[in-house]
Amino acid sequence: MIIIMKIDSPTEEIESIYSTLQSWGITPEKYVGKHNIVIGLIGDTEEIDIRQIQNLSPCIERVLRVSKPFKRVSLEFRHGESSSVVVSTPNGAVTFGQNHPLVTVAGPCSVENEEMIIETALVVKAAGAQFLRGGAYKPRTSPYCFQGHGESALGLLAKAREVTGLGIITEVMDTADIQKVANVADVMQIGARNMYNFSLLKKVAAAGKPVLLKRGLGATIEEWLMAAEYILAAGNPNVILCERGIRTFDQKYTRNTLDLSAIPTLRTLTHLPIMIDPSHGTGNAKFVPSMATAAIVAGTDSLMIEVHPNPSKALSDGPQSLNLEQFESLMLDISSFAKIMGRWPQHALTSAFKHSTFPVNSHFARTSNTMLRA
Ligand code: PEP
Ligand code: MN
Repeated sequence: MIIIMKIDSPTEEIESIYSTLQSWGITPEKYVGKHNIVIGLIGDTEEIDIRQIQNLSPCIERVLRVSKPFKRVSLEFRHGESSSVVVSTPNGAVTFGQNHPLVTVAGPCSVENEEMIIETALVVKAAGAQFLRGGAYKPRTSPYCFQGHGESALGLLAKAREVTGLGIITEVMDTADIQKVANVADVMQIGARNMYNFSLLKKVAAAGKPVLLKRGLGATIEEWLMAAEYILAAGNPNVILCERGIRTFDQKYTRNTLDLSAIPTLRTLTHLPIMIDPSHGTGNAKFVPSMATAAIVAGTDSLMIEVHPNPSKALSDGPQSLNLEQFESLMLDISSFAKIMGRWPQHALTSAFKHSTFPVNSHFARTSNTMLRA
């Protein structure tokens, strides 16, 4: 259930509503939006009569029931306003969100050695990426495959951060490693295989860093959002959802099926920012540019791209990794599309188009209007 309050509601009025709700065993959570203040109610609200709440204050505009099983992550809980995740990096704050420029995360599947991670970091930064990715702890299907260099790789990521100023995104697989990973990572990644690991989700949430939550290999959208709900329920609102391909029947020509329909679907269900990973989504470097472009046009907020200086020698995920030149040219290509969509740094969204049903910005609208007039 949510209470929509007038934007100019006095603090005392909100406090008095809070204490009444708490006396009923309900946990209220306030969100100050652009047009309203929304108080989300967590707890057993089934039995509460909407009119009973409506009568608590003249500052209440409306009271609505949240129909979905996920509450805090739902779009309803924010009364339709998308949220953003702001991450501070040495190069400055980077914002993931629907009304912000595209954020690019790039780097190798695994951190292999100092030379390759620094070289990759320098190139992806120069090409326009804001975050370096790289696994220190790798979830491998075979216990005999390279498992990541662990703690020493975290040290190399810290060095790459220092050298380039890029933010760091790396996966945490085990609760025992949370603190070590949190010391280096600007965003902590929960991999697809751990999306259902609810005790890990709760503990990673408590570390306080923004969390990148990958969609499980066979997870429905609702299961994925419920996993995100665990993180928000544990007190961490900074979650980015990453679609990385799901299992379907064809695994001969693509590793996974990249579900780009997740973008518009999530937009109707959640306020959280979205990332698309076409590298794991397809498993084939050749397919990455077209899927990255399609993701931008479908309105993704960010991209994750695997990049390796020598993919044929990579210790993991070589076939889906772009080499450094391929990444540079991908960035040039996608910048044109991101500009059209108003999602390139100099084309941040203006408020007039924030509520457009098609995920484009004013630049696109201006261009298309001009074309229509011509
Ligand atoms: C990765 O990002 O390298 C990775 C293992 O991803 P996923 O969990 O999506 O397979
Ligand atoms: Mn990988």
